[in-house]
Amino acid sequence: MVATNCKNRFSSADPHKVVALYDEFVALKSQADSLRAERNENSNAMKGKLEADRRAALIARGQELKDELAAVEERLNGVEAALQREGQRVPNLTHPQVPIGGEEHAAVLTEVGSQRAFTFPVKDHVALAEALDMVDFESAADVSGQKFYYLRNAGALLELALVNYAFNKVVSRGFTPIMTPDLVKASVLEKCGFQPRGSGTQIYAVEDSPLCLTGTAEVPLGGVYMDRILPEAELPVKMVAFGHCFRTEAGAAGMAGKGLYRVHQFSKVEMFVLATPEQSEALHQELIDIEAGMFTELGLHFKVLDMPSGDLGAPAFRKYDVEAWMPGLQRYGEISSASNCTDYQSRRLNIRYRPGAAAKEVGSDSDGGAEAAKKGAGKKGGKKGGAGGGSGGKTEFVHTLNATACAVPRMIVAILENFQQEDGSVVVPVPLRPYLGGMEVIRPPA
Ligand code: AMP
Repeated sequence: MVATNCKNRFSSADPHKVVALYDEFVALKSQADSLRAERNENSNAMKGKLEADRRAALIARGQELKDELAAVEERLNGVEAALQREGQRVPNLTHPQVPIGGEEHAAVLTEVGSQRAFTFPVKDHVALAEALDMVDFESAADVSGQKFYYLRNAGALLELALVNYAFNKVVSRGFTPIMTPDLVKASVLEKCGFQPRGSGTQIYAVEDSPLCLTGTAEVPLGGVYMDRILPEAELPVKMVAFGHCFRTEAGAAGMAGKGLYRVHQFSKVEMFVLATPEQSEALHQELIDIEAGMFTELGLHFKVLDMPSGDLGAPAFRKYDVEAWMPGLQRYGEISSASNCTDYQSRRLNIRYRPGAAAKEVGSDSDGGAEAAKKGAGKKGGKKGGAGGGSGGKTEFVHTLNATACAVPRMIVAILENFQQEDGSVVVPVPLRPYLGGMEVIRPPA
């Protein structure tokens, strides 16, 4: 089943190799254990009075056992590292309703609105933004290089408006607002299913440091509850973060990438949820509903796609992408993505919950919320199964979900191209106006 799943997901992971390495690991471990037991027996036998040649024989055997054990342990370490490496490459299982195949097999789940009919020649977002003095690609190229940009004037204000609008929307749905670090440890990135180093990685690593620039706030959010056990009553935990995303876009050469569409750094509002396995599917739907609600309110025409097996990456069990119509680029472009990663990340991050445990069983006696879970079910209590999660008993891995509330540059592309007017000005979507001091139309600065 796992091998078929790897094939369906176009993954080069080899589960048969993982099984073979595991068998080898178990055999070597048992060999090491029996050598250790024999060595102990041997040294016990040396206690007390012994004939000289008996003692010499035991010493010789002791040396032999020591050498044999060292050799087995060395092989064991090598096999364990290989097992970890190969095991980490195995992707998550796949939701049974996910279409099998490559990108072209994406299934349209819903479609909202329709392509706007223009009565004048449409411009793309680059022409519009430059004429409105909203972007500066030239200075960015000098200062940072290709695929960087400055946002200026209404461009800068529009980023802040979009971030605030999305943040407020999601917070009003009960998500805890969080500002996350943009630099994260490579080990945490790996646990979230990203490849921090090596060829083709999307991640910028900081030289002579264990840190990397994060590609998404999903990583620092995933790390918040790392190595913790939550009581079931605390779930779901819903967080929303603002963060910067840094991506090498290795391998993206030749892909549609004009202007703001595919850049090395961008701002994003990201939702992240911890849930029980029973809750996760409904929460996945809730996340995509929140996204679709905002895009509808902003007046965009978009499709929600059930992404096919070959396009899921390693962590997602199921992924819904939203593609909005971009009239200047004359195509649909991805503006957001919502994934249910089931227990793929939580196994690596070691985030568990204790079924049946009530919030008040945990932590300090003054608060029963997430704070209590963190204090009481935190690293010490939780890990040892003492105070953490309440009454003891079996723990399970949580499910993790992540979803884009607002990836700023793609939203700017969609807004400029869809709401442009013949004179090059752009109508501001009504819900964003309060965040722009009431601005109704973006015109060139005076
Ligand atoms: P991801 O975290 O890869 O699912 O990306 C989340 C969203 O960020 C996507 O749906 C895009 O809207 C946006 N995005 C991804 N990569 C880039 C990029 N290089 N430049 C601008 N926006 C991006």
